[in-house]
Amino acid sequence: MSIKLTILGCHSATPRTFAHPTSQYLEINNRSFLIDCGEGTQVQLRKYKIKFSKIDHIFISHLHGDHFFGLIGLISTFGLLNRQKDLHIFGPKGIKEIINLQLKLSNSWLKFGLHFHELESAKSELIFEDENVEVQTIPLEHRIYTNGFLFKEKIGERKLNIIAIKQNPEIEICDYQNLKNGKDFTKKDGKIIDNEILTFNSPKQLSYAYCSDTVYKPEIVSLIKNSDLLYHESTFLDDKIDLTEHTKHSTAKQAAKIAKLANVGKLILGHYSSRYNDISLFKEEAKTTFENVTLGEAGKIITVETVVNKELVIAHQN
Ligand SMILES: [Zn+2]
Ligand SMILES: [Zn+2]
Repeated sequence: MSIKLTILGCHSATPRTFAHPTSQYLEINNRSFLIDCGEGTQVQLRKYKIKFSKIDHIFISHLHGDHFFGLIGLISTFGLLNRQKDLHIFGPKGIKEIINLQLKLSNSWLKFGLHFHELESAKSELIFEDENVEVQTIPLEHRIYTNGFLFKEKIGERKLNIIAIKQNPEIEICDYQNLKNGKDFTKKDGKIIDNEILTFNSPKQLSYAYCSDTVYKPEIVSLIKNSDLLYHESTFLDDKIDLTEHTKHSTAKQAAKIAKLANVGKLILGHYSSRYNDISLFKEEAKTTFENVTLGEAGKIITVETVVNKELVIAHQN
């Protein structure tokens, strides 16, 4: 079970030569998601060799241009590439109208199903779920309706303790799936062997919380508590904290405060204002409050893997 996050862009507002607006490509527990789709996202996907065919679900936080102006371009390219698979888009109410109007007036016809899942709740809701992953909204406070997204792995199967199993010759390979599902084993003489003796717990489920754009909002802490990875916008440094209330953005220090309160594993910063030339200052500021922090930068890949205990590794080798 693992998370691999590729930052495609992480600056605010206007695209510049080395500053791409927000977009991220997330791989979690064998699923892939595109999060936000600022202008130029499809070029960044090409640059970092991410297959377009892997993208079936796109999550848009809000309808400011730096988070979705790349969407119509990407959808249009999918059409030109003769895509047949359905595409699901999750985003604020209104996104369907915007995209469909652009498709209609450009006389574009798609051969694939384009499904919009429009959001308007002020409360957190479960918006996606399959066998591997679930996604919940994180209601944020910005100048317009905005959601972050919490991606969580689902509990997997229990892992077989091969050493213990081999000590019980009555257990056959055809019994393994029942053991993985948590069932006890009943011997021919009627004696029961507890599942806990024959298996290990499934690995810890990992989670990723994506929060952009928002004013400092400690109310989200309970929702994102103990996430392994947190992306939190840091448009400003603390010297410009007076701008945060009006623009509804956060400083690096505020992002670090949220990371600390939520006890996350690692904090990723991003959405830097173009007024700052040296983004290393964001890391320095955040580090005074929360130690494990990294700068979001286009092309950076951040991974988290479940630590499997030694005993389990040995069991797998037998
Ligand atoms: Zn933005
Ligand atoms: Zn915004």
